[in-house]
Amino acid sequence: MNRITDKKHLILAALLLFLGFVATSVANYTVSLYSLRKEIVNNDLPLTGDTVYSEIRRDLLIPVFISSSMAHDTFVRDWVLDGERDPYRMTRYLKEIQIKFDAITAFFVSNKTEIYYHADGILKRVSPDAERDVWFYRVKKMGNPYEINVDIDMANDDAMTIFINYKVFDYDGNFIGATGIGLTVNAVTKLIAQYRERYDREIYFTDGEGTITLRASDDGTDGRKTLFDRLERNEMAREILSRREDVPISRTFDRKGHTIHLDSRYIPEFDWYLFVEQNEDDVTKAIRHTLAINILVGGLITLVVTSLVALIVRNYERRVERLASVDELTGMWNRRAFDLAFAHLLEKFEGQCSVTMMDIDHFKHVNDTYGHLMGDRVLGHVCDVVTKAIGPDDVCGRWGGEEFIVLLKGRKKGDAVKTAEKIRRAVEASPYEDGDVVLPITVSLGVAEHHPGESRETTIARADQALYRAKESGRNRTESA
Ligand code: GH3
Ligand code: MG
Ligand code: MG
Repeated sequence: MNRITDKKHLILAALLLFLGFVATSVANYTVSLYSLRKEIVNNDLPLTGDTVYSEIRRDLLIPVFISSSMAHDTFVRDWVLDGERDPYRMTRYLKEIQIKFDAITAFFVSNKTEIYYHADGILKRVSPDAERDVWFYRVKKMGNPYEINVDIDMANDDAMTIFINYKVFDYDGNFIGATGIGLTVNAVTKLIAQYRERYDREIYFTDGEGTITLRASDDGTDGRKTLFDRLERNEMAREILSRREDVPISRTFDRKGHTIHLDSRYIPEFDWYLFVEQNEDDVTKAIRHTLAINILVGGLITLVVTSLVALIVRNYERRVERLASVDELTGMWNRRAFDLAFAHLLEKFEGQCSVTMMDIDHFKHVNDTYGHLMGDRVLGHVCDVVTKAIGPDDVCGRWGGEEFIVLLKGRKKGDAVKTAEKIRRAVEASPYEDGDVVLPITVSLGVAEHHPGESRETTIARADQALYRAKESGRNRTESA
């Protein structure tokens, strides 16, 4: 297998590992997102809706109840039927109600005289042409016995102010006026603010037509006064507003790239709708963060593991290469490695280098006299001597048995013979010593210069022939081709 395929395989493995990490992280994220969504839709929003629902019922039912009592009060009806004499009696009655229930105001408007009475006296006469009095003529015509008007009082700590306009009838069922109180209630507005701060949940109410009647004072949607503006989905808004059952419904939709969960329910007592909205992105921030960290860690682990594997493989390759090219006994290059080095050298030094073939003289005798193991040690000793004698650029290999070959870079025949002689003299001058034994060693060498265009085998064969001649002429000498 060559290096490029190795690299490709490594990259492929790293990619698979990383994809594995990404797949697991994304799967985890999807599962978390799914359960989180389920939690929001099935638990969080309905529960919030329930709480707000019961709170607003408590908040609003009290003033409705008070106003209802006023509308059915026999004093009120008798006083009107008696011709509204002595207005002080009416205003005193209203004042009592205002004080008792801690109301902002208590009022009665007569249908016959169109006089507006309140706790501090007669206010004025209402007129169908005055903008401020439109409510009275609306109440007069409406089918329901009462209506609720809600205002957020910015001057009063954002308190919610409720006006109940209750129809008053005489004993024969004829409309004789409208009465009611204005009350400040805080529980619901506090609750809405709390939910929005703690859970990023938006809570608002609309009337039957979808006009927003009550919301957090700073929800940044001043321009959106109806459910249609708010949801940006007329179909959905119409569907919700067409339901008049006290059963919550939930919807999930996309608004400007954000996933919004909506819980809605109808409040029959006031003919209002309650909405609880949750922007999913606010809740899923944490698990998105986890996803990013998981992928990052996966990437880092992939990088570390891949680098480690690459390092191990490269070390292993080096060891295998060394095993395949180095002779175990002498530590010199083997024939294959030497041949590669020779071929490599010829690319630059064609006709500019020589080889010398060397054979130890009468080595058989060493083996026969002192044993094979001692023979091995002598081989190692000769290699040490040769290595010291040649230049740092010269390459020495074991050609086989006790024959060695030296590649002399940049040297023509004359210089090569000089180096060969240097080797020969060095070996001759360094007998092998082992305890009492001092064993003189000599070598014979044959030198051949590489001729341009000549094959490596031919050069080596000529050096071998020269070596043969050196042996023939008496050994411990150098001959050249
Ligand atoms: P010559 O001067 O003609 O070279 O005589 P020689 O005895 O050296 O003859 P030859 O080259 O034919 O013999 C080489 C001997 O070297 C034969 C073989 O047993 C021995 N030999 C070869 N390889 C090794 C080795 O790795 N270790 C040892 N101890 N002996 C080896
Ligand atoms: Mg030999
Ligand atoms: Mg020999």
